[in-house]
Amino acid sequence: MSRVAEPGQPAEALPPIKGFMFDLDGTLLLSDRSLGGYQVLPGAIDVLSALRDAQIPFVVLTNGSAYPPAEQAARLRALGLPVADDALFTPSSVAAELMTRSGIRRALVLGSRGVGHSLSAAGIDIVFPGEPGAADVQAVYVGWHPDCNMKDIEAACLAIWGGATMYVASDVPFFATKQGRTMGYSYAIVGAIRRMTKSPFILTGKPSLHALRFVARKLGVPARSVAVVGDDPAVEIIMARRGGATSFGVTTGVMAADDWMRETGRRRPHRVLNQIRDLLTNGAIPMLTAGHPAQDLGRAR
Ligand SMILES: [Mg+2]
Repeated sequence: MSRVAEPGQPAEALPPIKGFMFDLDGTLLLSDRSLGGYQVLPGAIDVLSALRDAQIPFVVLTNGSAYPPAEQAARLRALGLPVADDALFTPSSVAAELMTRSGIRRALVLGSRGVGHSLSAAGIDIVFPGEPGAADVQAVYVGWHPDCNMKDIEAACLAIWGGATMYVASDVPFFATKQGRTMGYSYAIVGAIRRMTKSPFILTGKPSLHALRFVARKLGVPARSVAVVGDDPAVEIIMARRGGATSFGVTTGVMAADDWMRETGRRRPHRVLNQIRDLLTNGAIPMLTAGHPAQDLGRAR
């Protein structure tokens, strides 16, 4: 375990933690670029199992919107990760809640079929580009869309020019896979739409505070009592810092240990975990470390 602090400085104190939010890609597992095959990262099953056994609430919030949450949760359970259907969320889960609250009844979806699932489940009418009424919507929702073409971009622009509000699942250019950093399609798609429309958008995935507040409500704890575990300073760490939550950076995704040491300000996690398993022994969760002396978080191993 290393701390993110200059040598000789004490590690930043950790506030009491009442629930956990885990990132998926680069934190609990690595997928193929095609999102087909998965490799669970060492210690991930142990950590989630220990939290479950200790009845400490946790959720997984991925910025990946390719699959409906229950389908993605089932994939994780098949890999041995104890994630219940109601503990896995995507930006589409957050979008569905925000749109419902804003009275949106019909949305144009730019994404694979799974992207619109949470909206449909929330009672929002969804329509895809090329379908009748694609311009007659109150919202445009952009998610995982590897097959996006210019007609899709055009449909989104027409809807926005007609008054629709744009919601975006992920505004992150890259995420971690087994093959290394991989392009986030919605980032590029939104770039094209905004070049045409200059439209602002509502981000529903990480690092938006909408996402953190959603997670805190699901955990049933205040946002400042949430611990956010993730591999990306611009995604999980900034979100946690903005919302007053505790942040843990892992070295199994887009950042190596040395990369974390260079981060400052809101990109700087409270702690860096060389292995996610370190959560079980580093004193961050007193219930789990009862009987074990709390380790000096600043000590290099
Ligand atoms: Mg990640």
